[in-house]
Amino acid sequence: MRSAGVLPRSAEPLANPACVIGPGQRCEHALVDRELNRRLYAYEQTVRSRFAAITDTLKVLSSLQHERDFVERAQHLARECLGYELPAQMLENAWAAGLDVRALHAHCIFSSFKACIDQAEADQAPWRERMVLDAAFFQSCGYHTVDISPCADGRLQGLLPFVLRLAPNPAVSVKAYAGAMFDVEGDVADWTQRELLRLSGGIPGGEQGNYLKVAVYHFSTSSPCEQGCAAHGSNDKKAVEQALGRLEELRAAVENTYGRGAAPDVLLIGIDTDVDAIRIHLPDSNGDVNAHRFVDNAVIYRETLGMTPEAVRAHIEAALTKVEQAEGWAHGQGGSAPGMRHMILSLLEANLSQIEFVIQHHAGRYAVIGHDEAFICAGEAMSELQLRNKFYFAHLDTVEEGAADMDVGIKIFTGLNIRNGLAVPVLVHFHYSSRVPGARERAILRCKRVKAAIAARYPDLHAQGLLRCQMAVSDLHGNERATFVEDEVADIGH
Ligand SMILES: [Zn+2]
Repeated sequence: MRSAGVLPRSAEPLANPACVIGPGQRCEHALVDRELNRRLYAYEQTVRSRFAAITDTLKVLSSLQHERDFVERAQHLARECLGYELPAQMLENAWAAGLDVRALHAHCIFSSFKACIDQAEADQAPWRERMVLDAAFFQSCGYHTVDISPCADGRLQGLLPFVLRLAPNPAVSVKAYAGAMFDVEGDVADWTQRELLRLSGGIPGGEQGNYLKVAVYHFSTSSPCEQGCAAHGSNDKKAVEQALGRLEELRAAVENTYGRGAAPDVLLIGIDTDVDAIRIHLPDSNGDVNAHRFVDNAVIYRETLGMTPEAVRAHIEAALTKVEQAEGWAHGQGGSAPGMRHMILSLLEANLSQIEFVIQHHAGRYAVIGHDEAFICAGEAMSELQLRNKFYFAHLDTVEEGAADMDVGIKIFTGLNIRNGLAVPVLVHFHYSSRVPGARERAILRCKRVKAAIAARYPDLHAQGLLRCQMAVSDLHGNERATFVEDEVADIGH
């Protein structure tokens, strides 16, 4: 078992891209919440250790499989190293048929995932209570709802608590799509539902204000052509323009349907996934966003290291004003509305803590700058597991509609798992509402349809046992979280 599950670091010292400092200076920024960083790091270690122990444990089991007391020893090891037992039928015939390591590996990935879901509240409580950007904060900026669509890339899975330091709260929802190419019709429906809820008094404190849609694209400064957004062929310009295009389409869709002034506000954010520094594109006074009109927080971190908190805040304000007054391609019609501006300032300030988190705990840049996900989640994601590179998310209602996202996921896992002789673990997960009669049964049927469609879309992988699907459902309103559902026929994984 690897201690604490920290990613192995390269022996070569990495140049620290966010923090270029002089002799005697230290990377300790005045606006960084070090206590919050400490708590988030403890959370990261806890979650990673549940997955990191799997490979080594299975290697030991594999070497013991022909021993007389194999089953007892295997269960003892599993309890010690993984915290759960393994299904007896997967161990009992190992002496004759050989241990099915692929099946066990997928089983362990799902079990470790389930442990993270079951313990999410206890794991996350220490950092949740320290987060300041909550529903009341967004309401103070003029937003009753913040709807975020990042790219489905696993490197963006830590977006809320880590990169943006947002407290999970009912005002914020996240739906990821490959390339941040969110579904405009689906978003119009979400917008309508939230507005209806607000008008019927269902959003406490949200009587006033607007709906905010945020698209989050990503790029890699140290390997721009290989480790950018796979959905856009690592073409950063395309990633920005297409996300921006979707935001404009959404505004037009709502305005053309519900009249002028109805459109939600929009915001475009970029993340350098090597260091988790954000760029925020500043909307002008009309709410228009521009690909060239942004502030880069990695630059702000470097420029403000060693300043007092007041001086840093003044510096960020000045940086925003400079961008707002830019001419040429970055030109816009005046500055952002005061609420939007306040929110942008707060997000930049919060992200300074994450930049320093990566500097202090990941040597200034992640050791694995590319993909390193443990499984694919197909269907609807859960907000309980929020950590970089834990899973690739394929948002889909049906496999036909989500085919592009699923194909990108399978391509990523061909490089990660299949190349190493392991199967691709696919969690098929949907939510239901216990307030709606029959909804749980329908969610299970939906899981089964999607699982069958995945097997049909990748017939070669399926035939070779290289796809391992686990179905799960969660209740939107009650306590049930990711309950595993099996097919009636006992054919584990197939
Ligand atoms: Zn992407």
